[in-house]
Amino acid sequence: MPRIAYVNGRYVPHAQASVHVEDRGYQFADGVYEVCAVKNGRLLDEGPHLDRLDRSLRELRIDPPMARPALRVVLREVMRRNLLRDGLLYFQVTRGVAPRDHAFPAHAASSLVVTARPVDLVKAQARAEEGVRAVTHPDIRWKRCDIKAVALLPNVLAKQAAKEAGGYEAWLVDETGHVTEGSSTNAWIVDTDGNLVTRALDSAILGGITRRMLMQVAQEAGVHIIERPFTVEEAKAAREAFITSATSFVTPVTQIDDAVIGNGRPGSVAMRLRELYIMASEALAQA
Ligand code: PMP
Repeated sequence: MPRIAYVNGRYVPHAQASVHVEDRGYQFADGVYEVCAVKNGRLLDEGPHLDRLDRSLRELRIDPPMARPALRVVLREVMRRNLLRDGLLYFQVTRGVAPRDHAFPAHAASSLVVTARPVDLVKAQARAEEGVRAVTHPDIRWKRCDIKAVALLPNVLAKQAAKEAGGYEAWLVDETGHVTEGSSTNAWIVDTDGNLVTRALDSAILGGITRRMLMQVAQEAGVHIIERPFTVEEAKAAREAFITSATSFVTPVTQIDDAVIGNGRPGSVAMRLRELYIMASEALAQA
């Protein structure tokens, strides 16, 4: 696959794609991003991702780099130039390039970078069918996790700790012992009564697009959803556990730390919801 990135108005070979050293994204993590899945050459859940990008930009008072129709053209052009069938589109907007000073610059055009990456869907499906291990980690992030900011250092450290402990994802735990979310996923359990449980939206978690779409799918399938925090102990004793994100869709968690979830195999609710989510988002996807 050719690798072409979009950087501030130009399509450039990925290896040469770079931003200025005084880009505020680089110096202050003063920027936001989105990750969208591409399946069969179609962008999944594009509208909700662009809505969330707009919200993140508004919350941080960063100017949109271009109007939405133009951005949709750029995203498609990056997909086209990369011959992307199945993969991920990453797009990032920062407050732009300016002399380093914490306060907002008076005149800086926001920066836009778009990259594409293929994903092996067969491998991802195999991972889902196998189930993954989550490793708990203290949630030391800031108080605006609802903004999809590029400042991900606590997430990076948690994910690395999980990896070093043999896990696939870190489950972040707040000071009261409740799971907030994963390092790059939302966290769910199926409780002993068969209800789907996930934390309600607030500033402690990112409003996942997959979370939102999955709720619709689950409701239509007659699965009862309860939005409330759950503890690590409750999760370890749950019937099922899983994670959601644009990258992982719905992926069962079969172990949390050293506790085996259910019978140690991916749960039937999670696997059914994974199938339903993929079908629904593909059906909604626009070319
Ligand atoms: N929480 C965090 C912290 C994330 O980084 C992500 C992935 N962007 C998610 C949840 C899942 O969000 P989405 O379903 O929109 O990918």
